Amino acid sequence: MKQRIPLEVAKEIIRNNLPDLPPEKVLLAEASGRALAESISATINQPPFACSLLDGYALRAEDTLGASRDNPLKLKIVSQIFAGDRAERQINTGEAARIMTGAPIPEGADCVIGQEKTDRENDKVKIFQELNPGQNYAPAGEDIKKGELLCSRGTLLRSPQLSVLASMGLERVDVRPLPKVALITTGSELKAPGEQLEPGQIYSSNNYLISARLEECGAEVTASLVAGDNKIEIKEKIIESLPGCDFLVTTGGVSVGEKDLLLSVLEELGAEIFFWKLDLKPGNSILCAKLDEKVIFGLSGNPAAAVIAFDLLVRPMLIEINSLDHLNLKKSRAVFIDELKKTSPTRRFLRAVLVSSSRGEVVKLSRGRRRPGILKSTLECNCLLDIPAGSPPLKSGQEVEIYQLPELYNY
Ligand code: AMP
Ligand code: MG
Repeated sequence: MKQRIPLEVAKEIIRNNLPDLPPEKVLLAEASGRALAESISATINQPPFACSLLDGYALRAEDTLGASRDNPLKLKIVSQIFAGDRAERQINTGEAARIMTGAPIPEGADCVIGQEKTDRENDKVKIFQELNPGQNYAPAGEDIKKGELLCSRGTLLRSPQLSVLASMGLERVDVRPLPKVALITTGSELKAPGEQLEPGQIYSSNNYLISARLEECGAEVTASLVAGDNKIEIKEKIIESLPGCDFLVTTGGVSVGEKDLLLSVLEELGAEIFFWKLDLKPGNSILCAKLDEKVIFGLSGNPAAAVIAFDLLVRPMLIEINSLDHLNLKKSRAVFIDELKKTSPTRRFLRAVLVSSSRGEVVKLSRGRRRPGILKSTLECNCLLDIPAGSPPLKSGQEVEIYQLPELYNY
């Protein structure tokens, strides 16, 4: 078991132990927000046939030579074609077809005139202008040519992609899987909202914090169980939840107290312990192990420490699997407009707020206390400050490195 390892080493260990989850075939109707597991090329032309862009008349451009207000041209209307019809009747010289938007251009016709620009007299239509071949109709494949690449592997499926794929008649697509994650919150002091608190007890918030977080990262939460600080109970919950998930996340019981039992429980179950603790703050209670081919993350019971570790380790791993890159933390730089008096002997991640200002994007520390157990500070934070080991106090105006959360929610 490794201890106090750098974040990058921990991530590498996790990456090397990710399961090879197969893609999932889903109905296009259920594919919104998923990432494609395959590249998709056009299987047909779009539009599949030459079609009218207007409600009007399809005719032969050469017939209109010399037509004008003073010299109107009269064509015989020989057919009527609606969207969805077949264009069965050919158009010969001196003829026109009444045609609606989206209807197929009949054989022989090579242009369309809008009905507002014509006069109709029984079975004749009067044309007052010359037209060019190709005017007002879309040739087959004008939009999409059969064989052209439409969406490459990894593309996030949103409404435009879905509509393009639907226009090909695709019913199902292969998408990257959503990892299945089971959650166990541990602690004998924990009560569920709605229950009566006895002295010494607190309401459990981590299960809400972490399961919502998991879903926000594109994971499926397969179980959310609670265990007291009791080896048998923790073992039972692990054994119960492990078969139905790809990963297990726990909170609580990973520090050095007498009731911090997760490490010994995992050892007794025969798990391979990858590491315990990271070389960063707040990273002194994180455990990572593998049991039955499933990676297990033991996060701190302290909410802020748990969620920071989650974002640094669990989030990128989930995204490696589901390819939903827009849900990952975004690394960037910003001007610090606050003050941090402390030096940072070890690397530390601080809860912070990124705001737009006349100087561009600036970052300040979240208000209030910074201890790992402070819950409220997670409300306003939308980014983490990454302060390298050995940093002197931070001064206002200096540039800092930040990890921004997706804009959907706060820290
Ligand atoms: P632990 O990691 O078990 O030592 O817990 C650290 C701190 O987090 C303690 O003050 C716990 O009471 C608190 N804590 C543990 N689990 C939860 C939870 N599910 N919800 C809220 N606070 C928790
Ligand atoms: Mg505890």
